[in-house]
Amino acid sequence: VSPLTVGVDLGGTHIRAVAFDDDLAPVARTAAPTAAEEGVNAVVGRVAESVRAALARAGSDLEDVRGVGVGAAGLIEWPTGMVLLASNLGWRDVPLRDLLSAALDGAAVDVDMDTNAAALAEARLGAGRGLRHLLYVTVGTGVGGGELLDGRLYRGASGGAGQIGHVVIDPAGPRCGCGGQGCVEVYASGAGIVARAREHGLTADTEGVFRAAEDGDPAATEVVERAADALGLALATYVNLNNPEAIIVGGGVAAAPGYRERAERTLRQRALPALADVVAVLPGALDGDAGAIGAALLVSEDDGRST
Ligand SMILES: [Zn+2]
Repeated sequence: VSPLTVGVDLGGTHIRAVAFDDDLAPVARTAAPTAAEEGVNAVVGRVAESVRAALARAGSDLEDVRGVGVGAAGLIEWPTGMVLLASNLGWRDVPLRDLLSAALDGAAVDVDMDTNAAALAEARLGAGRGLRHLLYVTVGTGVGGGELLDGRLYRGASGGAGQIGHVVIDPAGPRCGCGGQGCVEVYASGAGIVARAREHGLTADTEGVFRAAEDGDPAATEVVERAADALGLALATYVNLNNPEAIIVGGGVAAAPGYRERAERTLRQRALPALADVVAVLPGALDGDAGAIGAALLVSEDDGRST
């Protein structure tokens, strides 16, 4: 039997672990609640348990694992795998890679941002298959991104590259969770859409705001259009800086009717025409497994593990 790789998607609500074979076909999977309120050690313990359970279900164990990759929401230092900040977990400076490796009898562990994992998955096996220059953007509660330059995941000096959600659209705009003002995320994300709608006196969840816009509510329409335009402006800036072949837009909010299309229209109006001409804007092609697949790819493509 060839060794397995385990990919873990560590989110604010769920831990998903999938064991993959050499061809990255899923062999076994497990899921557990994150329950971040129980603290770092409990969460790390549950991640370790999920990894062991996935391997056991695949008829294997830690003796015979190639490595464990984890994609986690938040800002992560790479290659140390230190979670600098993960607001949905309530974590700051958590050495996740080292803690998890210790909990897994010293197994090789890679930890990266979930957006980098998803970008890698889409680039290798999804909508960006065969492309060398692409940006992956996810629009959900927040706005995140990951980028491939010259065929490789680009992480920057400390692992934080690709923060398209914090490109500033309006320096005098609303406060962002990052401490800045007027970032893309305060307009384009699910949470941003809800907050901007509330400023117009419209109290609804993200879906409710989109529904109100479809029903012709002028305030909701303005908020929804502003959301897609803000994303499109940031994407135009990205296109001008990096000349990508494709921008892959994933996430639940981006799937709302017309959202991606309007962002693309704004991008094409605002980017340099010669660069806008070569970029394709595509929906993500991988379903809920993108995070786990990408996490497993972190292991197979790792060349920077620091220990
Ligand atoms: Zn921000």
